[in-house]
Amino acid sequence: MNVPTSENRHRLLDRRDTLRMLAKASRPPPDEVPPTERQRRRVEQEQLEQIEAALGRMAAGTYGVCAVCGGAIDRLRLRVIPQARACFDCASPAVKGADDQFLRLEPALPRRGA
Ligand SMILES: [Zn+2]
Repeated sequence: MNVPTSENRHRLLDRRDTLRMLAKASRPPPDEVPPTERQRRRVEQEQLEQIEAALGRMAAGTYGVCAVCGGAIDRLRLRVIPQARACFDCASPAVKGADDQFLRLEPALPRRGA
């Protein structure tokens, strides 16, 4: 399988660390923050789960295989969305939406050393 597994593994581990850090950070309880912040936390949690799942697929040797058609997920897609579960053709609107959310969230993550 011609996927950049080791590079993507580092990126996934990096994002996982950041998301774990955010999850552990002391933040106001959910009932004291606006719905947008609650939604963002939910997305962070979902992404953390997606990343764990992708790391699990790497360990199992099924990383980069589309969960729907069994074909290879495009390298470029994996580069942009290292936790992608389906190839572009198979990704349902829900999956695509989740992937997009991941990209949208990115600028909200704290920069290293900032
Ligand atoms: Zn597919």
